[in-house]
Amino acid sequence: MYVTQSDSPIQFLPGVGPKRAALLQSELGVATIGDLVRVYPFRYIDRSSVQRIADVPLDAAYVQIQAKVVRTMLLGKGGQVIYSRDENGALRADGTIPGYGAIPTEADARAAKSINFSTAKRLSVIVDDTSGTMELVFFKGIKYTFNRLQPGMTFLFFGKPAVFADRINMVHPEIDNPILPGSGSGAVMTGVYSSTDKLRNGGITGKVMNKLMESALEVVLPEVRETLPEYVLREKGLVPLRFALQNIHFPADAVALQKAQYRLKFEELFLLQLSLLKQKYVRSRSDNGIPMPLVGKDFNDCYNALPYELTGAQKRVIKEIRSDLMSGHQMNRLLQGDVGSGKTMVAVLTALIAVGNGCQACIMAPTEVLAQQHFTNISKYLRPTSVKVALLTGSTKASARKEIHQSLQDGSLGIIVGTHALIEDTVVFKRLGLAIVDEQHRFGVDQRSRLWSKNADGIPPHVLVMTATPIPRTLAMTLYGDLNISVIDEMPPGRKGVETMQITEARRFALNRFIRDQIALGRQAFVVYPLIFESEKLDYQNLEQGYEKMVHDFPFPPYKIAIVHGQQTSDEKKFNMDAFASGRANILVSTTVIEVGVDVPNASVMVIESAERFGLSQLHQLRGRVGRGSDKSYCILVHGDKIGKESRKRLDLLCSTEDGFVLAEEDMKMRGPGDLEGTQQSGLPISLNIASLAKDGRILSDAHSYADHILSGDPTLENPVNRLLSFELRKEKYRKEDYSKIS
Ligand code: ADP
Ligand code: MG
Repeated sequence: MYVTQSDSPIQFLPGVGPKRAALLQSELGVATIGDLVRVYPFRYIDRSSVQRIADVPLDAAYVQIQAKVVRTMLLGKGGQVIYSRDENGALRADGTIPGYGAIPTEADARAAKSINFSTAKRLSVIVDDTSGTMELVFFKGIKYTFNRLQPGMTFLFFGKPAVFADRINMVHPEIDNPILPGSGSGAVMTGVYSSTDKLRNGGITGKVMNKLMESALEVVLPEVRETLPEYVLREKGLVPLRFALQNIHFPADAVALQKAQYRLKFEELFLLQLSLLKQKYVRSRSDNGIPMPLVGKDFNDCYNALPYELTGAQKRVIKEIRSDLMSGHQMNRLLQGDVGSGKTMVAVLTALIAVGNGCQACIMAPTEVLAQQHFTNISKYLRPTSVKVALLTGSTKASARKEIHQSLQDGSLGIIVGTHALIEDTVVFKRLGLAIVDEQHRFGVDQRSRLWSKNADGIPPHVLVMTATPIPRTLAMTLYGDLNISVIDEMPPGRKGVETMQITEARRFALNRFIRDQIALGRQAFVVYPLIFESEKLDYQNLEQGYEKMVHDFPFPPYKIAIVHGQQTSDEKKFNMDAFASGRANILVSTTVIEVGVDVPNASVMVIESAERFGLSQLHQLRGRVGRGSDKSYCILVHGDKIGKESRKRLDLLCSTEDGFVLAEEDMKMRGPGDLEGTQQSGLPISLNIASLAKDGRILSDAHSYADHILSGDPTLENPVNRLLSFELRKEKYRKEDYSKIS
């Protein structure tokens, strides 16, 4: 029936059955017995590491205590005790608890059954391990936890201690059954699996999970197939899969666990890299690219008329692009460069190469404002050439649109700049040789792929994706593993840098004076308000109030203030942007619309209101709007009096460095890769099971170069020694994870 027992439905594992099988499937994605053993613990209970409450230091990171529940208390909105229980029963006779005042006294067994949990805001649990006592606090799952933590019973608690009013407490610790002397299999460590309310309610508790895992391993281990070739295990010093699976669930000791984890992390990252890189190898072996051997007169005319020398990084990147374009294979290249590093120039020169080889080029920007600005800049650069360029956006008038469509079709238009209006089916090119996408993460994969299929002969254009959101190397390798990556890591000379500081409302007066001084020097200022996704109305209020305050503090005349936000029509937006860009307005008040790309070199001040509400990369992007001219610029982060630890850390970091890559790495460490800007909007899932892009960068780099090494000798994995690898890559998972493919 099934090839192996591991392939049998999970339902048939003793202790599971149809109901639990459905739960395991919906909550953990487990369909077969073999799937279950690939669900790994996220931490381990280590018997040797239980601490005494009295010994827990004030600054402990994580602790595990084993203690008896002495009292549980439900607290209401104002912190008053609604209901309390201790070892003697429902309520204490004296009606008071030290430090909490009077509590209700109608002691009654029935009361325990009719507790109104809906008015309880917090559950406080006092536990005692004979060395001392500690308070545990719960804000969620109050009813479940209240009923579970019966006074008199002992549990293991694992959590992050916090200091509150000079005492240590723990908020939402994990709860496990106590370690009983002489219990268990003798293993020092027991796995703890992530769980959900549904799993727990369905009877799949931590303990049950350990049991199921034990029986699943009994089935799977004897027949487990190694996934990596023998020579890979040997060369990389990896333990066999059988050993790894046994020890990831039931570690014999810490060393065995470490070896098991390393093996599984390496395997995961290595196979993913192998699948991504293999696509790249396959593409580079096919001859589906438009050959562009020439440079062309227009390129040279533009190049020779440049008002500045290209930076070393710009030159290097152009060389990398050139060699792609000449190769006869389709280019798929990601160009990363911090704001202001000069990506536009690279885009223009690349487009001119396409034109020089008898093709057309399109440059697509995420917003109308940006497309307009690109168009203005690019037109300037193209003046010394004979190349025609046009702008196509949603607000292009019908007559102009018709003309553009015509000249794209007959080939007289060399370069077209625009928004996603470019991907409409009515837009047809004579020969699209190059598609440049700016700020790639704002486009969906879908939109991009439509652009790639614009040529009638089916030959895809070369693709250059530009992003100003620095992506940590590990993330780039995974998201764009099949792309070639170029990095502009050098700023044009003469930049003075941006001085960044934090202030609170108390210094508003000094801030206004500072802005006036800068305006008196002929400079301009941005003032940005946060965009809170939950409430567009509220954002707007924020902005409106801010605007009114600014108008009050900077009255006309002499001050002029422009305002830009998402609720304006594109004409209003354009009018206000132009007022600021041309220098007619001294101050631009806006939401984050200006985040990407807008270039006003005369602006020297960036004020970010409620800075604690922004993410790190967003703050960095905003800051990049100033410091584009040769004068010194300033970024002022205005934040509330009380801000959280994480926000504080973000703002401090931003003040400490201007290097976008450093900030991106830190951001990833703080928030994890899934939350990084650029990955979420792009809709690219990162589904790693055991490895972490933030923590396992070294293993990833190693896996990446090892995969590359193997493919360079055997690009299609046809060699018999690589049979296991090509077998693995045929699994659906790797076909699904084709997400980085942009063409
Ligand atoms: P990005 O798109 O990478 O944010 P831009 O292409 O808009 O950056 O360039 C930022 C500014 O730097 C522009 O005003 C541009 O003219 C200028 N610039 C670009 N390259 C150089 C260079 N090599 N030397 C001096 N200035 C440069
Ligand atoms: Mg740009």
